[in-house]
Amino acid sequence: MRRARGWAVLVLAAALPACSGGEPAARPAPPSASASPSPVRPPSPTPSPSPAVTPAVTSGRLPCPPAYAPPDPARPVLTAELSVDGRAVVGTSRVVFTPDLPTGELVFRLWAAAPRPRAAGSRIDVTRVVVNGVTRTPRRPSPTLLRIPLAGRTPAGTAVTVELDWRLRLPVGANDRLGARGSTAWFGSGLPLLAWVRGAGWATDPETAQFAEAATSEVMELRSLSVTRAPGLAVLATGEQVSDDGRTAVFRARAVRDVLVATGAFRTSRAAGPAGKEVLVGVSRGLRDDPAAVARELARAMRVHSARFGVFPYERLVAAVVPDLRGGVEFPGAILLGDGQAIGDPTGSHEVAHEWWYGLVGANQARSPWLDEAFATYAEGLDRGTAAAYARRPVPAHGRNRVGAPMSYWEGRSAYSRSVYTQGAAMLLAARAAAGAAAFDDALRCHVRRNAHRVTVPADVEVSLRHLPAAVEVLRRYGAL
Ligand SMILES: [Zn+2]
Repeated sequence: MRRARGWAVLVLAAALPACSGGEPAARPAPPSASASPSPVRPPSPTPSPSPAVTPAVTSGRLPCPPAYAPPDPARPVLTAELSVDGRAVVGTSRVVFTPDLPTGELVFRLWAAAPRPRAAGSRIDVTRVVVNGVTRTPRRPSPTLLRIPLAGRTPAGTAVTVELDWRLRLPVGANDRLGARGSTAWFGSGLPLLAWVRGAGWATDPETAQFAEAATSEVMELRSLSVTRAPGLAVLATGEQVSDDGRTAVFRARAVRDVLVATGAFRTSRAAGPAGKEVLVGVSRGLRDDPAAVARELARAMRVHSARFGVFPYERLVAAVVPDLRGGVEFPGAILLGDGQAIGDPTGSHEVAHEWWYGLVGANQARSPWLDEAFATYAEGLDRGTAAAYARRPVPAHGRNRVGAPMSYWEGRSAYSRSVYTQGAAMLLAARAAAGAAAFDDALRCHVRRNAHRVTVPADVEVSLRHLPAAVEVLRRYGAL
């Protein structure tokens, strides 16, 4: 996720009081003593337990896997059918879930009811729940949390089939991941999202009111996603397109942790990425972006990042340029962009970098937002030659050396972007300099392979860097470890 920068921020600054990261990336802030990390590590603001099994850190370089770790063969399988009509989306999701730990409930997150979209009129209701053929009554203790009790405790390794009927009303005017305007509708994290993490259990972390994510989900097989819309409109969605008869388009994906759908009268263009991966861009009617130029820029970023981290991990990359959004939001194999955010702006490169950092190598975004945002900003900064300038940006005192703080710490604080994105990128750049660029790049490439398709924790980064103690020390100093 990335806030709008450049012209959009100048125009909209008054409406974005929390937009601390809003200046153009190409204009470095003057050098400031406050940008230098303090040698004293502050108390960790993240006392919560790790969301996954934490590997023991010993010493020595781990063997580098030859390729990405494959997705878990027992990962959840999602089949969904939905229909879009203006602001209204009606759908059914069917999930086959095989827990690796015993559980007495199922937990889904309803991110369409998070504070930002909710404030713009977003609403999601789950109207029917059937588990293994039996109707269940869920509880909804908070707007984004749906708890479904099971008849008894389900042992590890036993498949549970759950079917949910749901209704989504899209917000209007939200600078966020869901919205509708004119004939265009878009919703990322709009479907109920199973919140299981292998080795840890249910992720029930609080929602955030920031321009940020708090979602956590492991990869699933998207066996079939059917999207029905009015004739004449196009559909852009996560995964490869299997069919489209003009009313219903069907998509599927091997291993994704979330879903984006956008429908509308898009001007579209395609560009060839590396290794035969295609970039498809749709620009909503009335917006100024040139879809061919956006597609070329995203394909360029895909080439740069894949050379650094590994092959692009999805079937293709689709991007929808939509109204009301000021910045960009990442989903596996799919991106939402605001108008004017891809050309001459870091947002396109940033969101493409998330396909590795968030998409392929996952994290609990509520507890450790730096695991995706610092790495995506670092990748974007290396790509655009702006990384060194990030190190000179001042960081407010409450954010200094708190790269590893959770979203609950940043709630109500204005320095989230500056402290986690920019300071986090500066931290990784400093770690790279301390360890040597070639050794650091190699360690991150191996880290991506080792942790592909997983939900990682900060200790996983530490393990992957343990043969580079100077880099680990930098991450400790900045409060990331
Ligand atoms: Zn981001």
